Amino acid sequence: MNADEVRERLATLRERDLPTHGGRTLAYVYDSGIAEADELGREALAAYGATNGLDPTAFPSLLAMERDLVAFARPLFHAPDGAVGTVTSGGTESILLAVQAARDAHPDVPDPVMVVPSSIHAAFHKAAHYFGVARVSVPVDPVTKRADVGATDAAIEQHAGRVVLVAASAPSYAHGVIDPIAELAGLAAARGIRFHVDACIGGWVLPWLERAGRVAVPWDFAVDGVTSISADLHKYAYTPKGVSLLLHRDAGLRRPMFFASADWPGYTMLNATLQSTRSGGPLAAAWAVVSFLGDDGYDRLARHAHDGTLRLAEGVAAIEHLDLAAPPDSTLLAVTTDESCDVFTLSDAMLERGWFVQPQMAYGDLPATLHLTISAATADQVGDFLTDLTDAVSEAVAQGPVVVDEQLAAAARAIDVATLDDDAFDGLLQLAGLSGGESGVLALPDRMAAVNALLDVAPPRLREALLVAFLDRLTR
Ligand SMILES: *Cc1c(COP(=O)(O)O)cnc(C)c1O
Repeated sequence: MNADEVRERLATLRERDLPTHGGRTLAYVYDSGIAEADELGREALAAYGATNGLDPTAFPSLLAMERDLVAFARPLFHAPDGAVGTVTSGGTESILLAVQAARDAHPDVPDPVMVVPSSIHAAFHKAAHYFGVARVSVPVDPVTKRADVGATDAAIEQHAGRVVLVAASAPSYAHGVIDPIAELAGLAAARGIRFHVDACIGGWVLPWLERAGRVAVPWDFAVDGVTSISADLHKYAYTPKGVSLLLHRDAGLRRPMFFASADWPGYTMLNATLQSTRSGGPLAAAWAVVSFLGDDGYDRLARHAHDGTLRLAEGVAAIEHLDLAAPPDSTLLAVTTDESCDVFTLSDAMLERGWFVQPQMAYGDLPATLHLTISAATADQVGDFLTDLTDAVSEAVAQGPVVVDEQLAAAARAIDVATLDDDAFDGLLQLAGLSGGESGVLALPDRMAAVNALLDVAPPRLREALLVAFLDRLTR
C-alpha cells in the first residue's frame, strides 16, 4: 500500500467500530467533549509512542511525567506524606499488581486468600487466577448492592491467618455504588491486613464530587486502613487508553511489587509493572491531558457528568417498566426492567437508535441490568437519550421479553463444562447463535438479544466457557 492507501484503509476499518466521541457510547469510552484536550493527547501519544518506559534512566522524560501525575493525584486521594504511586497500563494491571504485592508481602502464608464483595470487578478474579490467591466472594446486599460488612467480617474470620487482602469499590462498575469503605477497611486494619480501594472508574470523579459536597462518605486514604487505591486515567481523566494509577500508602507496602532479575547474561531486568518494554505514549498523553484540563477542568467535568447522571437517573425512574438497581453514588447507572420486557431487547433497540448501552447479565440474586457510564459529553444529551429510551421501551414491551425454551435452559444448567470438547463447543455456539455457519467466518447477529438471553440463563461457568470458545474461534 502507498501512504494514502494506508490512511484510507485505516479510516475504513474504523467505520464499523463504536464511536469514541459524541457521547452516544455509554461504556468502553469516555468523552470530555473538549476537542483541544483530545488533540493534545493525540499529539503526545504520537510524539512519545516510540519511547520506552523499560529504563527510566534512559528516558528521564517518562519518569518526570510519572512523578507529576502521582503528585497531582496524591492530594485528590488525601494521601499521606509517604504515599507513592505507579503508572500502569490500565485498571486491570493496577489491580493485578495490588494483589501480587499483597501476596508477596506474605511469603509466610502458603495458601493466601483475598476477601472481596461479589460486585468487585472481574480483574480481581483474574488476579486471583494468575497469582494463586484464593478468592472469597461475599454476596453484596441485594437491595443497596453494597458490600455486606458483617458477612465480610465473618469471611475474614473464617480464613484467619490466610487473608492477605480485602478489597472493595468506589464505586462498583456493575451498580455504581460506593461500598462502606470505612467499615470494611476497619475490619482489615484491626487484623493488619491490606485493604485496596478499586476507584478505577470513580477515582477521577469522586474527589471533585466530594469537594462539591455531593459525596459524603470517606472512601480514600482519608480512611486509616486503606493501603492502596487504583484510579484509571483512561476513564474519567479523559486520556487516551493505556493509563491507570496505583497508589500505595507508603513505599514499604509497594516494595514487594517491584521485580528485578540479574540471573541471565543480558541487562538486569528491573520493572515496577507487569510490562517491561512499555510505550511512553499513553503516559505522555495522560500527562498532557491532565496538565491541560487541570484541577478546574476536572472540577467542571465531574460536576457536569454528575448533573447528567442525576437527570438521567430521574428520567429513567420515570419511564414505565424501568427502574434503577440503586441510586447512583457517582456517574454510573444500572437500569432494570420489569417482566414486560428485558434489557437485552432494550440494548438492541437503543443500538438501532444510535446509542450503545451495555447489557449486564443476571448474577445470583442480582437481576440483569443495562449499564450506563455517563461521561461529560453524554451529559449534554440526556434529553435525546431519554426520548429514544422511552421509544425503545415501547418497542421492547411490544415485542415482549425473549423467552428461552425451558428445555434448552434446563439443558444449559445441566451441562458439565469440563466434559465439553471442541466439537461440542462448535455445536453449542451454533445453537447460541454465535457461529458464522457455512462460510466459517464468525459474524455476530445484528440483534444480540436472543444470544444474550440464552447466555443469561446459562450458569456463569458455562457463559465463560462458551465465550472463551467464541473468542478462540474469532481469533483463529
Ligand atoms: C474499568 C474498571 C476496571 C478494569 O480496568 P481496565 O482499565 O478495563 O483494565 C477495574 N475496576 C473497575 C471498578 C473498573 O471500572
